[in-house]
Amino acid sequence: MSKGLLIVMSGPSGVGKGTVIKEVMKDESLKLAFSISMTTREKREGEQEGVNYFYVTREQFEQAVRDGKMLEYAEFVGNYYGTPLEYVEKLRNEGKNVLLEIEVQGCMQVQEKEPDALTIFIVPPSMEELENRIRGRKTEAEEIIQQRLAKAEKEMEMLNKYKYVVCNDDVELAAEIVSVIIRRHMEKNNKK
Ligand code: 5GP
Repeated sequence: MSKGLLIVMSGPSGVGKGTVIKEVMKDESLKLAFSISMTTREKREGEQEGVNYFYVTREQFEQAVRDGKMLEYAEFVGNYYGTPLEYVEKLRNEGKNVLLEIEVQGCMQVQEKEPDALTIFIVPPSMEELENRIRGRKTEAEEIIQQRLAKAEKEMEMLNKYKYVVCNDDVELAAEIVSVIIRRHMEKNNKK
């Protein structure tokens, strides 16, 4: 059995990565496992510890970094976010294809360590549509929304660093495209 793929998905805040991922994860034949990140940001309404994230303090996060426990990490709009390494490795060794939903700086770190990582950037149909989606979420203060929008503009400049770019105009279609990409890479991985 070959080691599972490492799949990284990024895209600006509000682009609907989570929805696309949920749709893709429904396909059991893709043998996907979602990597749960660690973060210092506050829990949003409806989120759950150990499901959406592991919520920790800045001290706990910094300690995990010092102990070499993170595959990658980054600071995003005032909070730390990172991928615990051990869990990812365990799943990949079991043959699972591990999916990381992380921002661009983290993806760059992953690519350095794992040049074979399958990287996919999700783009919105337009920046206006992105703003509507972020505002529609109604979970953040105006100041945070502005920071996230500014960050989104910056992140869009990085899409050429990714192996694939997929537009999330229609969720089902975007998920289908992502599934095809993953399947192709699984076939290649199995031939190794
Ligand atoms: P949110 O606060 O909206 O859940 O996430 C903010 C950003 O952090 C998103 O772009 C998300 O992809 C990213 N993110 C989530 N987990 C991680 C992680 O483990 N590492 C990195 N580098 N970014 C992450």
